[in-house]
Amino acid sequence: MSTIRTHNLGYPRIGEQRELKQATESFWQGKLTCEELQETGRKLRRQNWLKQQAAGIDLIPVNDFSFYDHILDASCLLGNVPSRFGKAADAADFETQFTIARGQRSTGGEDACGCGQSHAAGFASEMTKWFDTNYHYIVPEFRADTRFRLAATKLFDEFAEALALGIHAKPVLVGPVTYLSLGKVQDTENPDFDPFTLLDGLVTVYEEILARLAVQGADWIQLDEPVLALDLNDRQRDAFLECYPRLARAAGSAKLLVASYFGELRDNLPLFLGLPVAALHIDGVRGKDEIATVIARFPSDKILSLGVVDGRNIWKNEFVESLAILGHARETLGKERLWISPSCSLIHAPVTLENERKLDAEIKGWLAFADQKLAEVASLSEILRGRASVTLLVENEASHLARRNSPRIHNAQVKARLAAVVSSDSNRRSAFPERQKLQRAKLGLPLFPTTTIGSFPQTQEVRSARAKWKNGTLPAVAYDAFIKEETRRCVAFQDEIGIDMPVHGEFERNDMVEYFGEQLDGFTFTSHGWVQSYGTRCVKPPIIFGDVSRPQPMTTYWSGFAKSLTEKPMKGMLTGPVTILQWSFVRNDQPRETTTRQIALAIRDEVVDLEGIGIAAIQIDEPAIREGLPLRRADWESYLAWAVDAFRLCASGVRDETQIHTHMCYSEFNDIIGAIAALDADVITIETSRSNMELLDAFVDFNYPNEIGPGVYDIHSPRVAEVREMENLMTKAAALLPAGNLWVNPDCGLKTRGWPEVRTSLENMVACARKLREQVVVPNI
Ligand code: GLN
Ligand code: ZN
Repeated sequence: MSTIRTHNLGYPRIGEQRELKQATESFWQGKLTCEELQETGRKLRRQNWLKQQAAGIDLIPVNDFSFYDHILDASCLLGNVPSRFGKAADAADFETQFTIARGQRSTGGEDACGCGQSHAAGFASEMTKWFDTNYHYIVPEFRADTRFRLAATKLFDEFAEALALGIHAKPVLVGPVTYLSLGKVQDTENPDFDPFTLLDGLVTVYEEILARLAVQGADWIQLDEPVLALDLNDRQRDAFLECYPRLARAAGSAKLLVASYFGELRDNLPLFLGLPVAALHIDGVRGKDEIATVIARFPSDKILSLGVVDGRNIWKNEFVESLAILGHARETLGKERLWISPSCSLIHAPVTLENERKLDAEIKGWLAFADQKLAEVASLSEILRGRASVTLLVENEASHLARRNSPRIHNAQVKARLAAVVSSDSNRRSAFPERQKLQRAKLGLPLFPTTTIGSFPQTQEVRSARAKWKNGTLPAVAYDAFIKEETRRCVAFQDEIGIDMPVHGEFERNDMVEYFGEQLDGFTFTSHGWVQSYGTRCVKPPIIFGDVSRPQPMTTYWSGFAKSLTEKPMKGMLTGPVTILQWSFVRNDQPRETTTRQIALAIRDEVVDLEGIGIAAIQIDEPAIREGLPLRRADWESYLAWAVDAFRLCASGVRDETQIHTHMCYSEFNDIIGAIAALDADVITIETSRSNMELLDAFVDFNYPNEIGPGVYDIHSPRVAEVREMENLMTKAAALLPAGNLWVNPDCGLKTRGWPEVRTSLENMVACARKLREQVVVPNI
C-alpha cells in the first residue's frame, strides 16, 4: 500500500436510534429471545461496517461492538469470570456478560468480599469511569488464584463475520497492561495482592489470541493501551517491556498497532516509541503539542497513526490545521508510514447528525458526529493525495470562519463582565465562624438538623406529565398546576415528618444539567445525540456553543412557591458550574476554565435572586468536581484552582447569613480535601453510608472546619434503613467531628426511589436525629 491509509479505532455500537438499548432491555424483560437479540447485534454490526466502508475508511475495527461493555467482553475472552458466578465462571456463555454486569438475580447466601459490607452471592462487578470519559466499564477482578484462559469466541466470530461480508477488518482489543492496570483486587485472603504477578499467564492467553487471529487472516490487530497517557509506575513500565516482544512474536504474520489516547505521552514517550510493534497511534487532539516531538523522534521502522479528528467532542474538524500537521508528518515519515484516524474510539461521540432535524441550521453546520468524523478522516486523506476538489477545503474553512464570527457565539456583555471580575468576587464577606453565628441565629435550627439532597421521586406520572407538556398534549397551565400539586404534597410531607430544612422536590426538572442548560443562553440540545454511559444507559449531553448568560431567573418561581408553603427554611437548589461543564459537550474555541467562569456568573445571579426572594439556604451541587480531575497529577493543581474559584464565584454574591450548601457523591476525598475545604461552602453533604463513614477520614485528618452532612443511608437501594443503623453511622461521625457541625441527610437525591420507601426512610432518619439530640450534649452552641 503506497498511500496514506485511513482507519478507525472504534465505532458507536448503540445504533442511530438506540436500537441496541431497546433490544437488550426487551431481552431482559423476556420479550425478545436470545437469538433475536443476537440478530439485532449482527444487523447493527453489518450496518456499522458498511457505513464506515462507504465513508472511505480503509481499516475498519471489529470487536468494538458489545452488548454491554467491551472491557467486560475482554474479561470473558480471557476467562476471567469471578468464581462467585458459579457455573457461569466455568462455561461463560452469551448471558454471562449480563450476569457479571447486573448481578445474579437468583438468591444465594451472604458473601463477604472484604469491603466491609455483605452482599448476596453473585453480586454484580463494580463499574467505573473509563479514564476521564463518561463511559463506564465493568472493572475486571483479580485474585491470587486467577488463571486466564481463552474462553470466548466473540472476537474471532466477529472477525469472520466481517470477512464474510468482504471486509478485511482490524480486530481491536484492550492491551494487557491497561487491562491489568484497570482491574481491582477482589480477594479477602490476599488484599495486597499485586495483579501484575498475573502478567505472564495473561500474556500467554494474549499470545494465543493473536496467533489465532493471524491464522484467521488478520493483517492488523489494534491493542488499546490508554494507560500510556497516565503517570505510570515501574511495574507498569516493566510490563510493557516484558509483554510486547512476546506479543509481536506471537502475532506472526499479523502486525500490531498499539493505540494511546486521551492525553500526551510525556515521560512515557521513549517507552511508547520503543515498543516492538509495527504501528503506533497517538491522540493528535489532546496530545497536539507533542506531535512535533513524536515525529522528530519516530523510529524509522514504524507507522504513525495520527488521530487528528477529535473523538471526544462534536465540533467539525478544521482541515487547514489538520493538514498542516499531517503534511509535516508526511514530509518526515513518507506517505507509507502515515495513517489518519479519529483521536480515540468514536463511542464517546453521538452517531450521526443526519437525524437532527430540529437543530438550528447554523449550529448544525459547525458540528460533526461519528459518521461525519469518519467522512472528515477520509476527506483529509483525499486532500493530501491531491484527489479532492478544492471546494472541500474552501467550504470547511468558510464554516470555521462563520463560526468564529457568528454573533450567536459572542456576547460582549458576558466577556466584559468576566473581564471585570476581581479576586474579591470569589470571597464571602466574612470568614466561616462569623457566618456560622449569623446563620445559626437566622435559621434557628436544632442540633443535627435534617435535610435531603434535593430531588424527590420522579414518578411515572411526573415524567409522563412533562412529556405530554413538551409534546403539546398537556397545556402549560395544567402542567404547572400538576407540578404545584406535587410540590405541595412534598413540602407538606416534609413538614409532617419534621424535616428541619425542606426542599421543593425538583419535580419540574428532567435532569440537573439539562434543566439549567435549557434556560441559559449559549446552550443547545440535540434530538438523537446519545452517547453510551454504561450498558444500555445512554446520555444526551447539552452542547455549549457560545458565551453563557442567564436571560432571566431560573429557579425562583418554584423555590418561591415552595417557600410559601412552609414556615421552615426552604433550601434552594442549583447545579454548579463545573458539573454543568463536565456533563456537556463544550466549546473548543476557548479554555474550559473560561466557559466554567461564564456559567459561574450566571449561577451567581441565580443565587443572589434566590436570596432576594427570602431563600435563606442555597445548595449548589457539584457532584462532578472530582471526575474533572486531569489524568496527570501534574495538571491537578491548576484544574482545582479554577474549579474551586468558579464555585466560589457562584457562592460569594450573598450576605453572610445566607447559608451556602454543596453536595458531592461517589467521591473519594482524600487527595482533594484541600480543594473541597477551599470551596468554603457553609455546609457540604456527601455520600458516606456505603463506605461506613470511612469517607469521613479525610475530613477528620484535614480538620475540616465547616458544617458537614455525611449521608446516613444509601439511596441506590430500595432497602429501608433502620433507625439503629443510621444512628450507628451518625454516632461514628459524631465521635470524629464536632457534633455541632453535623447534619443528617441521605447520601444523594431521591429521584430514582419510590414514595413508600422514601416515606419510611425519611421518617427513620428524622427519628434518628431526634435520638441523637437526646444523647449528645454539645457545649457552647
Ligand atoms: N440535587 C440533586 C438531586 O437531589 C443532586 C443529584 C446528584 O448529586 N447527582 O437529585
Ligand atoms: Zn449526589
